Amino acid sequence: MVSRVIPVDPFDLVIFGGTGDLARRKILPGLYRRFLSGQMPEDARIIGAARSDHDDTEFRAMVGNAINEFVDRDKQEKATIAAFLERLSYIKVDARGEEGWKELAGKMRKGVVHAFYFSVGPSLFGDIAERLHAYGMADAESRIVVEKPFGHDLKTAQALNATLAKHFDEHQIYRIDHYLGKETVQNLMAVRFGNMLFEPLWNAQNVDHIQITVAETVGVGGRGGYYDKSGAMRDMVQNHMMQLLCLIAMEPPYAFEPDAVRDEKLKVIRALDPVDPDDIVRGQYCEDEDGPSYFDDVENPDSRTESFIALKTHISNWRWKGTPFYLRTGKRMRARTSEIAIVFKDPPHSIFGEQERQKANVLVIRLQPNEGINLRVTIKEPGPGGMRLVEVPLDMSFKEALGPEAEDIPDAYERLIMDVIRGNQTLFMRGDEVEAAWAWTDPLIDGWTDRGDRPKSYDPGSSGPEDALMLMHKDGRRWREVKA
Ligand code: NAD
Repeated sequence: MVSRVIPVDPFDLVIFGGTGDLARRKILPGLYRRFLSGQMPEDARIIGAARSDHDDTEFRAMVGNAINEFVDRDKQEKATIAAFLERLSYIKVDARGEEGWKELAGKMRKGVVHAFYFSVGPSLFGDIAERLHAYGMADAESRIVVEKPFGHDLKTAQALNATLAKHFDEHQIYRIDHYLGKETVQNLMAVRFGNMLFEPLWNAQNVDHIQITVAETVGVGGRGGYYDKSGAMRDMVQNHMMQLLCLIAMEPPYAFEPDAVRDEKLKVIRALDPVDPDDIVRGQYCEDEDGPSYFDDVENPDSRTESFIALKTHISNWRWKGTPFYLRTGKRMRARTSEIAIVFKDPPHSIFGEQERQKANVLVIRLQPNEGINLRVTIKEPGPGGMRLVEVPLDMSFKEALGPEAEDIPDAYERLIMDVIRGNQTLFMRGDEVEAAWAWTDPLIDGWTDRGDRPKSYDPGSSGPEDALMLMHKDGRRWREVKA
């Protein structure tokens, strides 16, 4: 397969928070990989802007170290790294004051794309938008990239949308959800809408239920202070898992274009039923030999914030009425895995007798590890002995199916940043989508807060609290195993 990397237009990209963790681990190494692939043009420039004192040389050294640490060894080419670092400069900017802004405005070139990545805490988003406007950088051609969390609830998300809208049109605002940048997530759309095979079955008549699992093995670690104010519902469900659910459940958009896709996603969120409190299980991990308990990690012995959540919801529309969607996510679980499983109904009648009842087909979209798509089908067990049935996976691992080309799949961040430069918002959340997601989430959080519910404890290395298993057992179903 021939690589089809098309260079983007020349750009000036300013990364506010250019010295922070996200910039070091994801954004800057990702940009280097795009430079290496030939997608980032030679005359593109990246300007780090943060509040610490650095000069260009120090910033380049920091980025050089980040590349060394976070880019695969076989992609670290000395001459290319040097050429990439040449594209970088640094300005000390105070988001809350006036320092550095005039100099930054003076640095922006005319006639190239201007993108501003807000890789700072959300409390600074308004200040930065305000100053970009005040210093003449919020022109019609500029774009801003906003990191999560986008609000803490509906009210704060609305306020944030209103603040950004003062200076930028919706088509200039790129709310990033890196799950949408994952190759498999886009493949979900390719599989659904590029094949005749699946779409006719994609409904409540044929799908028994859908499971979405995002399991992590790590605890909240050094982010305890932030996490304890947020919890799994706000940190994972309201944004990432909601986006996955939308892509599975939405109607076919008329085109793979930003508003066509986002309109369909919005309809799904609006059709989500409120969740019955009995269909929500929250958990907090205990201590074990590998790490402290959730309480110790967040240094709050009375915390009622969940590090795990499982819930069942329904979508009230013609396509999905009656098909439950089960979502679960947690920290310190058995394995690091993210997947969507579409579990089809059993065939209506077994011609092979009760002994040989065939199991339901399951289509699994695996986000990590080993991105790929897998369809479980029933076939005849080979050999003599009559008609015995066996299940086999039809497995499409991208690495195997696409060969070396798949090795160069851009990571979610790098793909999304290139989309920003191209001006393509398809894989970014629109303001009304984010608000609708909060409007669904808020009453659930208010409900358990008002009731004073305490999360159940669960063992690290497990698949969450026992009650989460019951959530499906009581419906005669079971979760798929959490395994790497
Ligand atoms: P960080 O604390 O590591 O870095 C913050 C950056 O902001 C630093 O460069 C700092 O100099 C700069 N900064 C702080 N105050 C400033 C001011 N007044 N003026 C100018 N610059 C200032 O944070 P991070 O982990 O890189 O996260 C950045 C954003 O990305 C946050 O909104 C976070 O929620 C989001 N995010 C981070 C991750 C991650 O993996 N780190 C993942 C998803 C989203």
